[in-house]
Amino acid sequence: MTPFKLSYAIDRDTVNITLGREISRETRFPELDLNKVKRVVLDFDKTQVINSGGVRNWVMWATDLEKINSEIQIILKNVRFVLVKQESLITGFFPKRSSVVSMYVPFACDGCGQTLNKKVDLGRPARADELQKQFASALGEINCPKCGHKMELDALEEQLTRLIGSYARHVS
Ligand SMILES: [Zn+2]
Repeated sequence: MTPFKLSYAIDRDTVNITLGREISRETRFPELDLNKVKRVVLDFDKTQVINSGGVRNWVMWATDLEKINSEIQIILKNVRFVLVKQESLITGFFPKRSSVVSMYVPFACDGCGQTLNKKVDLGRPARADELQKQFASALGEINCPKCGHKMELDALEEQLTRLIGSYARHVS
């Protein structure tokens, strides 16, 4: 198994998919029997790049999941910020029935330029209000590991809260 390729495993009605380093036109998303599958869990931990062919490939596959099985539950884990950026540009980048469980948030230091990605893990899909609260406290105050200066969010907060707000509502 190379870090570049997608891999997946089926456990009864759940499919666990681990995306590779790059999502491109060549990424082979699995063909699933959506009469049997109730839950698709996608782990983006390794993903660093998504190009335009990858965006089209992903959106087509993900849209089909909901089209074929309108009850499906889609869980997004370790969402990398490259994907949050796409989500803020492209309507329907993540399927409507998705919920985010964990994501990476980029920080930068004004003092020395150090950057880091902080993982915010909510542990489980949660309601929007609950999620917003946990999210805010998880971010808290971060000091630079290099110089100790307070680090700033290196993203538009709006992009992050939009992502959380729009996907949390699908959790009852
Ligand atoms: Zn610093």
